Amino acid sequence: MKKLLVDKNNNDNIKVKVKDVFFGGKEKVIISGPCSVESPDIMIDIARNLKLLGVHILRGGAFKPRTSPYDFQGLQYEGLKILKEVGMEVNLPVVTEVMDARDLDEVIKYADMLQIGSRNMYNYTLLREVGKSGMPVLLKRGLSATINEWVNAAEYIMMEGNFNVVLCERGIRTFENYTRNTLDLNSVAVVKQKYRIPVIVDPSHGTGRRELVAAMSFAAVAAGADGLIIESHVNPDNSISDATQTVSIDSVKDIICKIKKLETILQN
Ligand code: PEP
Ligand code: MN
Repeated sequence: MKKLLVDKNNNDNIKVKVKDVFFGGKEKVIISGPCSVESPDIMIDIARNLKLLGVHILRGGAFKPRTSPYDFQGLQYEGLKILKEVGMEVNLPVVTEVMDARDLDEVIKYADMLQIGSRNMYNYTLLREVGKSGMPVLLKRGLSATINEWVNAAEYIMMEGNFNVVLCERGIRTFENYTRNTLDLNSVAVVKQKYRIPVIVDPSHGTGRRELVAAMSFAAVAAGADGLIIESHVNPDNSISDATQTVSIDSVKDIICKIKKLETILQN
């Protein structure tokens, strides 16, 4: 079989740069923000609070892949504008999902990093297009994807000459139904051992329960993750989407504080 670009081989580990933020370096990258961009006022309130905590990248979905077509589908282009303006206001790079290759040219104007959602991990035409764009990509693991399929999805992006790929473990479907997904931290250890691109963890979608987000954040860092993406809100219960897994700003603060301590232990 052909050697994959993503394999460690003799190649150096890849560091992915998003504005001044590096994935794959010593410091763990913290991405946080609401599941969906809801309004300018809420977005700026969340962003200002997260900036004070030292969060590196702001998240917010404008195009939302919802299970029911009757649920909120995101503010779409209006959401992109809000996210970019807020990011500029607080001086944080922004990451947002692109669901459709037809939106790519427009999304690129607003995002610093493109998120490929779990449901689109197998969308090979979209992967090739984001590859051609050269933009940093956050590639979520498909909800029923094997590690091999996930890594090959990264390969599709890299084949187009775009090595700015960060993997994101967000949990997989199993028979367990207490949690929304089963957060597979095995995959983090595998990626760190075998592959040369950074990997971060999403404990929000990985659990679906806000009371488990802190514990799984610590576990992810202990397993070797290069960062975390955590859904947060100034009023979590009022989040338009994914309220049950969205944590408060105070919880993000607590997680960041403990992760810093964990980092020093792991470096020794
Ligand atoms: C999200 O990040 O809000 C999201 C929809 O994630 P996933 O694609 O992992 O379900
Ligand atoms: Mn979400």
